[in-house]
Amino acid sequence: MRYCGVDYYPEQWGMELVDEDLDNIVELGADLIRIGDFAWDRFEPEDGRYDFSFFDKFIEKAKKRNLHIMMCVPTATMPSWLYRDHPEIMNVDERGYAQPYGARRGYCMNSDVYLKKAAALAKAMAQHYRDEKAIVAWQIDNEIGHEGSDVCWCETCHRKFIEYLRNKYGSIEELNDRWGTSFWTHTYYRFEDIPLPKPSFTAQNPSLRLEWERFRSLSAVNFIKTLRDALKSVDDKLVITHDFEGGIINKSFDPFEVSKCLDFVSYNNYPVWGGQPAPLSDSDLAFTVDFARGFKQQKIWVTESIMGAQGHNDIGYAPRPDEARKWALDSMDHGVETVIFFRYRGFIKGAEQFCFGILDADNVKRRKYYET
Ligand SMILES: [Zn+2]
Repeated sequence: MRYCGVDYYPEQWGMELVDEDLDNIVELGADLIRIGDFAWDRFEPEDGRYDFSFFDKFIEKAKKRNLHIMMCVPTATMPSWLYRDHPEIMNVDERGYAQPYGARRGYCMNSDVYLKKAAALAKAMAQHYRDEKAIVAWQIDNEIGHEGSDVCWCETCHRKFIEYLRNKYGSIEELNDRWGTSFWTHTYYRFEDIPLPKPSFTAQNPSLRLEWERFRSLSAVNFIKTLRDALKSVDDKLVITHDFEGGIINKSFDPFEVSKCLDFVSYNNYPVWGGQPAPLSDSDLAFTVDFARGFKQQKIWVTESIMGAQGHNDIGYAPRPDEARKWALDSMDHGVETVIFFRYRGFIKGAEQFCFGILDADNVKRRKYYET
């Protein structure tokens, strides 16, 4: 599937600017628009009460202009009612510090409550949009494991880690033998006694470390698979992807395994981010795109191809004239069949104000618009 798209967040500006924006997006030559990425509270303003009217209206306007839709299941950020009712769903770091409400990806991937609510949202969205022909692809979650969320040390993770070990080894004697616990007087008497391998004075038992990493990877696979299954349970023909983040080499999950849950792979291409003084080299960029293409040995989509400076707390490096265009073309040279430019317009309040787009917040067409 080959498209040229734009990332667009109608929930930021409301419907007022949508007609004009979509006309300008068509003028850019785009034929696809990616929506919904962080809009859980628009789709489900209260627990179990779904409301699709806002995005229905938006999709009607997009269809009038023959734009295709990439619909995102927005589980990377959570509505405040979910946290209010279930504060135990949050990710916990090695010091026992639970993420506060408000960061992206703050949830624990193994939280049964979060898995259930996220799957219910995915299913409700699929039921509502299953016959919407304009939707050509579904993205589940956003950048799994990014921003430190690949590891969680909460009690749920500990309990499920022990279950995983019990299922794998069968008996504690077998585990002790295979892990070599006779040295350093590490013999375990019950599975429940096995700790999580938190940072410590010396190295932990390498088998404990390895199994922990395997368990983390299974946790990410299970999260993506749960959302995939929720969508496919409504209609097996829905085409499903996930947008992997840059820097996936060093994460505690195996992107090749996660990709087995997907129909195709997407990648968010950020040659430069935040306080980084200069972009990555061309060879680094080529490598990351090639790596992502390898997950399924298929052509991929770039779901976020930057057109402006990027950062959360920093005004990052601004791509020089023609530099962002070159990154998009380079990615196509390495097996990208669809490029979606991030994002249509920067925003004037709230999160991601320093993630600049094709247009700046003043909405005037300038060099970046014509370069796109
Ligand atoms: Zn956890």
